[in-house]
Amino acid sequence: MKLQFVGTGSILTARMSASALIDGKVLIDAPNGSMKAMRRAGLDPSAVDICVITHFHADHFFDIVFLLLEQGLQQTRDRDLVLIGPEGFSGRVDQLFELSYPGVWKDIKGKVSPRYIEFGEDGGECSEGGYEFRALPMKHAVPTLGYLITDKAGARLGYTGDTVHCPSVDTLAAESSVLVLDTSFLKGRVGHMGLDDVETIATQRPELHLIATHLGDEVTRSSRPNIVFPVDGQSFDITPQGLQIGAPPAQNERPDHSTLGLPL
Ligand SMILES: [Zn+2]
Repeated sequence: MKLQFVGTGSILTARMSASALIDGKVLIDAPNGSMKAMRRAGLDPSAVDICVITHFHADHFFDIVFLLLEQGLQQTRDRDLVLIGPEGFSGRVDQLFELSYPGVWKDIKGKVSPRYIEFGEDGGECSEGGYEFRALPMKHAVPTLGYLITDKAGARLGYTGDTVHCPSVDTLAAESSVLVLDTSFLKGRVGHMGLDDVETIATQRPELHLIATHLGDEVTRSSRPNIVFPVDGQSFDITPQGLQIGAPPAQNERPDHSTLGLPL
């Protein structure tokens, strides 16, 4: 399984908002600016076959409109686009389109062939495109799902989405080969985990590779060797045994944060 980070930041940072792409075709979250970030990283938004949404906050969801435009504006898909997320996904897309491009969705919809799989507060499971998806209820300001995504080779990627440290995070830690975690702050607060929570998990499970994402600018490093801090565009190979770290993107492909004077 190849995991590539489209973005690794939270709002109010120069990093792109957190989202990730599996094997070039399974997109986890579609935050503000993510389609531009994909194109800038040489990734093709029209190659996405499955989009998994953790929750409907704008920094996880607002580029869904642009994903659908990328998919249907200039071509017609030859297979369904699978959209997996919390209950209400379909209605939210209708609303967002009506607000942003009134009348357009009815023309695009037939070309995109969206097929929604919506999970309620208890989560659930489905199998799509050669992957198994298990949705787990997280604890955030709005209904949020974390996911365990398993490929045919047995690599198991856990992805928390936004959440405080709750029992579902520990379930993901127990069952994942690699776990990607909300690490918004140094100390967890207001619906998010902090580095303190992630380091607790890292200490409990020294054999598990953890990847910190949704990073605030103050979260840059840890003394725990099993926590990785990715940059936008960086990719990783995930095997059933864990993580193989790829080289960071070449310097000229990395986002230039220097003009904003913010530390990476
Ligand atoms: Zn959120």
